[in-house]
Amino acid sequence: MASELIELTVAQAAERIRSGELSADEYFDAYREAAAGDSLNAFLWTAEDGEQADLAGTRAAQEERDLKGELAGIPVAVKDIFCTEGIPTTAGSKILEGYRPPYTATAVRGLRGAGARVLGKVNMDEFAMGSSNENSAYGPVLNPWDEGRVPGGSSGGSAAAVAGRLAPCAIGTDTGGSIRQPAALCGIVGMKPTYGAVSRYGMIAFASSLDQCGPLTRDVTDAALILRAVQGRDHCDSTSVGIEGGVELPSREDLKGLSFGVPKELASEAEGVEPGVREVFERTVGLIEELGGSVSETELPHAPHGISAYYVLAPAEASSNLARFDGVRYGMRIEAEDLTELYEETRAAGFGPEVKRRIMLGTYALSSGYYEAYYGRAQRVRTKIAEDFSKAFESFDFVVTPTSPTVAFELGARTGDPLAMYLSDYCTVPMPLAGIPAISIPAGLAMPEGGQKELPVGFQIAGPAFSDSAMLDAAHALELGIGFGTNGGGPK
Ligand code: GLN
Repeated sequence: MASELIELTVAQAAERIRSGELSADEYFDAYREAAAGDSLNAFLWTAEDGEQADLAGTRAAQEERDLKGELAGIPVAVKDIFCTEGIPTTAGSKILEGYRPPYTATAVRGLRGAGARVLGKVNMDEFAMGSSNENSAYGPVLNPWDEGRVPGGSSGGSAAAVAGRLAPCAIGTDTGGSIRQPAALCGIVGMKPTYGAVSRYGMIAFASSLDQCGPLTRDVTDAALILRAVQGRDHCDSTSVGIEGGVELPSREDLKGLSFGVPKELASEAEGVEPGVREVFERTVGLIEELGGSVSETELPHAPHGISAYYVLAPAEASSNLARFDGVRYGMRIEAEDLTELYEETRAAGFGPEVKRRIMLGTYALSSGYYEAYYGRAQRVRTKIAEDFSKAFESFDFVVTPTSPTVAFELGARTGDPLAMYLSDYCTVPMPLAGIPAISIPAGLAMPEGGQKELPVGFQIAGPAFSDSAMLDAAHALELGIGFGTNGGGPK
């Protein structure tokens, strides 16, 4: 029984809970049990009886939503970068160990407002810096398809929990690919909404001009349901505008009348794309045509400079955002003789190596005399990338690429080589630089080079700013055509 419950999509489970066919408590318990048996190191905290804070309005109003809301009774795994009142929130860092925020992120409140319940807080790369979840201070997360491999990152805990049947859905954050890439490596759906669609209030900041909250789910309909609950204008985040008219649930079954551009820089000419990934990508492009969509090659001439621009801009913003972790206001403190020493000792002990590397890179890029040469130039590249997309969208409704150049790689394979790790995001970084939405859906399986077992491959669709609903609709039609199912034969 519990195993059958765990195969339901969010839409199916919520429907049964609303109709009274399924008890919300029974469903929650099935997942609590699953999460308690977590062998993937996905969870950093799980809900215990009675600890569920009443996050939205009065108890009576909440009880009503828990039974009748669009996400009635749905357990959600929340990336540990979202502040949750009274519940430990670490952002995957030792420096925030023991921190219990006094407030809850707007996105989490949105979920709660739709009747969802926080199942647990999930593991992540420290401050969302990474592509493999190996930068967490709380140990790596394992990929449920092959426990010797990474789940991707930085939302690795979110992706592994959903794919490994430890949660029906999750939220994560994407700055350069951190929702889409782990979704691809774990064989699930992951979406980065348009910048500004979802409030960043209560989401611990990495690179504020890029960070966006989004869903990780087993299918596209569930992604739309979660996005619906989290999107919206929020007076606590002046960069949030929401999605005008809200998010429509996808219903498209074909791609007639839609045009798709394949940017050669991120597809045929992209370096490092594994043959198996290329094959699945090309097959999926063929399927778009079979479903009635038109496909032709396009170009994004500046996209190959995305990684270089990103690794100036994101560390620059991070160096400034992370200045607040000083041992005085949050989390851990190393006592010292004077204040400067207290800052230094706390930051030296609290931050991991990747975070330190980014703070140094970012501080250098912003230093006087170098600011124009690095930060200013990277900003200009960013504008060029955004212009490339605008131009492509004059001729095409969407742009499609592989999500990740490779399937899930082995634990430790890229930890010694930061540049190899950074290239994991080659195809996902240009979209947040342009502020546009993008989604990864599972498109098939491929054998890794030298591997023994086939692993999931993600297919990425990106659209113009605020085309989120239309993009979900197209992804839905393609998902039906691919027929990967909600488990693609299952991780095991
Ligand atoms: N892997 C990229 C990085 O390390 C992207 C991370 C993210 O999107 N949060 O910065």
